[in-house]
Amino acid sequence: MTHPVHRDDVIGEARRVAAATDADLESVVADLETWVNADTPGGDVSALDRFAAELAHTLERYGLHPELVPAGERGLYLHAVLEGEGTARVALLSHHDTVFTHGTALARPFRRDAARCYGPGVADMKGGLAVAVHTARLLARGPRPFARLEVVSVPDEESRPHAPETIDRLEGFDAVLCLECGRPNGEVVSARKGATWFRIEARGHAAHAGVEPDVGRNAIHALAREAIRLLDLHHSRVGVTLQLTSVVGGEGLNTVASHASLTGDLRAITEDDLGWAVGEVAAFGEHDGIQFSLENLGGPPAFERTPAVASLAEAAILLGADLGHVFGEALTGGVSDGSWTAHRGIPTLDGLGPVGGLDHGPDEYIETATIPIRCGVVAGLVAAVDAGLLGDVW
Ligand SMILES: [Zn+2]
Repeated sequence: MTHPVHRDDVIGEARRVAAATDADLESVVADLETWVNADTPGGDVSALDRFAAELAHTLERYGLHPELVPAGERGLYLHAVLEGEGTARVALLSHHDTVFTHGTALARPFRRDAARCYGPGVADMKGGLAVAVHTARLLARGPRPFARLEVVSVPDEESRPHAPETIDRLEGFDAVLCLECGRPNGEVVSARKGATWFRIEARGHAAHAGVEPDVGRNAIHALAREAIRLLDLHHSRVGVTLQLTSVVGGEGLNTVASHASLTGDLRAITEDDLGWAVGEVAAFGEHDGIQFSLENLGGPPAFERTPAVASLAEAAILLGADLGHVFGEALTGGVSDGSWTAHRGIPTLDGLGPVGGLDHGPDEYIETATIPIRCGVVAGLVAAVDAGLLGDVW
């Protein structure tokens, strides 16, 4: 920047982008309508690639340089770059896959009433995508208080148990602003629990359940005892949760079950607690003639509220209040790709999309009036990161 940037300049940038979005709100909502009405079910690579290509085209029209990065079987990752005259590198992170199957948008297309927009994926997270894309569009007009602004939209967030395929591109970034929707009360997300999904298998020995039951080694009995033991992990430390999510086993009505398995969902606020809890899951007791195995199926790491995350949240809250939208920050048990970037040590703030809720259900919605405010908050955060204004000043 050619002159020292002050907090007032950052607030001014937030106000400028919020006002400009408000003035263009109909065209923002028109984009959102187009995107919601295009079904993008996770796993349907051709539908996802088609969407990514159209989004790239739109971003190019808005002044960004899009690139479609192939990621094997998972479809194309969209990275669209805007170069500026500042020093910071900031990513706006979204996804364009949804949990809804083909035909959902036809059955209940985008709809809008006085206060809200509805439709499949409107909150999770095509509304967030609208905030990312239109903030970038307005920042492209200048001034551009960043060295590199990168709009990222991935095709596989809802189902991928590992980091985004292109996460290395964000290495060394100064901030990642993740556009999952804000909580229903407006809160941004400054911490997410980490999750580990696992499968336990028990192997015993089959026998006739009536004639020689004691010759057998019943895997279901042993697994049931272990399942009861695992339940004690739920709330065993603050924030630790455990839910058993499936159980199967056995071979027939009159056979001692030789095999059984279950799956579980384990979550914790810190990586330490998650590691500890996984260790506890693996601490099987002795069961005569039964062999246990534990398979770790992966899951996102804990997104911890580091000082850098806290100062991003603080700045977002101040910028929101200036724009007339009072909100706080939240820890949530749900995970997002922000979990992966935060775990990489990139200061990350999430829940910056429009205020909304009821994700993954038929009544999913966003509050339309929060779109311009969130665009302003995101633009202000970009400017604040670039100006090195996070931390004490705020
Ligand atoms: Zn999402």
